[in-house]
Amino acid sequence: MTPARVLLIEDEPALARGVSDLLRANGFSVTVVADGQHALDEASANTADVVVLDVMLPRVNGYEICRSIREQGLDVPILMLTAKTQEEDVVMGLNLGADDYIGKPFRAGELVARVKALLRRGMAPARCVRF
Ligand code: CA
Repeated sequence: MTPARVLLIEDEPALARGVSDLLRANGFSVTVVADGQHALDEASANTADVVVLDVMLPRVNGYEICRSIREQGLDVPILMLTAKTQEEDVVMGLNLGADDYIGKPFRAGELVARVKALLRRGMAPARCVRF
């Protein structure tokens, strides 16, 4: 059994470290990317089981990354993680193909639970991994 792979796209170093430590402590394998363009490359490689995506990023923002992932036909679950929690921001993220949305500041247990929920929903039984 391999751990579920999370692609964490977050440019704030302290938050990236906090979230990656949290996810690793919960059994996930985590790749952290801070730059929007690099994130697009990483997402396109299609090696993640779930993407945790910040909206405000350098060069390419989270909305564009989300749209690009879906335009490539990738159906990886996407959890948007952002301080932008106005209704229009949430609606735009979901309409661009995000599966779920969590506002900053978030509760650690809730973030982990939402990631696990997306993995349960997104995975065929044959692809089930431990987390
Ligand atoms: Ca950010």
